[in-house]
Amino acid sequence: MEREGRAAVLSAPGEPAEVIDIRLDPPGPGEVQVRLAASGVCHTDLSVKSLNGMGMAFPIVLGHEGAGYVEEAGEGVTHLKPGDPVVIAYRAPCEQCPACRRGDPRRCYMALRPKPRLHRKSDDALCAQVLRCGTFATRTIVHAKAAIKMPEAMPLDRACLIACGVVTGVGATMNTSPVWAGARVAVIGCGGVGLSVIQGARLRHASRIIAVDVNPRKLEWAAKFGATDVVNARETDAVTRVRELTDDGWDGGVDFAFEATGIPACIEQAVRMLAYAGTATNIGLPAADDSVTLNLGDMATGFYWNKAALRVSHAGDTLPAHDFPLLAQLYLQGRLDLDDMITRYIGLDHVEDAFHEMETGNVIRSVIRFE
Ligand SMILES: [Zn+2]
Ligand SMILES: [Zn+2]
Repeated sequence: MEREGRAAVLSAPGEPAEVIDIRLDPPGPGEVQVRLAASGVCHTDLSVKSLNGMGMAFPIVLGHEGAGYVEEAGEGVTHLKPGDPVVIAYRAPCEQCPACRRGDPRRCYMALRPKPRLHRKSDDALCAQVLRCGTFATRTIVHAKAAIKMPEAMPLDRACLIACGVVTGVGATMNTSPVWAGARVAVIGCGGVGLSVIQGARLRHASRIIAVDVNPRKLEWAAKFGATDVVNARETDAVTRVRELTDDGWDGGVDFAFEATGIPACIEQAVRMLAYAGTATNIGLPAADDSVTLNLGDMATGFYWNKAALRVSHAGDTLPAHDFPLLAQLYLQGRLDLDDMITRYIGLDHVEDAFHEMETGNVIRSVIRFE
């Protein structure tokens, strides 16, 4: 069995990702070795770099949106065999925490992780893996229950997107704040996650899907993915405009507002654009000292009088073993668009370029394809 590979690794705070040789220990009990076929480049990988490792010890193998083929299954793994196509989940429920014990794994406190088994070849240092995955690598080792089998017909260079951006957005509309048929929905922030929220709202038969962003290109994407209206928040007050667009003579506002930016002001806007008894959902990752201010008592839009709800979605509150095959099926049926989510394919050596492109706002997703 091949135990060596190449990986995009952060070696120290403030340094760029560098492609280096790695060595793998064999997969332990309940683990699998996966040869990667493709990996999406997600904003969280850039955050790991810009936030000095986000609490992980260096060196760090980047990447958490990967798909590939099982190469070897460790002891006790019966549901996977070599050659099986899989998408790697970073949030496979632990089966032990209080939420899992009461049969509510979508609220699992933690996720299953493999033992550290990837080494930097030059000095044998053990590597951390972003979100327990490490998919910017030709091969990696993950927990077997985090490797979710895909249908044979599913192209893995699309399937990888399911692992993070797509399940986060679609899952928010299905699991965190289930959108009902006919609901009015607003989506603030139309990057990869926001566009997936739009697709989720479309799949849930929302009657209005209002996309809000400050970037005209992203609003064009939003319309293509199913937004019925677009609002450029740089040109107009987003809350006022959304309330106008949804004014049906009763109570302007949306039943669901999804925030996919992590910007506190956008969370406040999401709450203020709700119709009576609507639900706002915070998806974007905040910084450590971020906070929001919510008015309670305004008779029209105050949190109390409007009977608002505010929820947080972690990765679409996904249950990967259920959700990933469902999303693959929706893709194969032509109902979930993954093809147009991919702006370009790149090689492993171009991770830093992908980070740069992400900062310009010109890409939905760059996807690394491994040969
Ligand atoms: Zn759990
Ligand atoms: Zn991600």
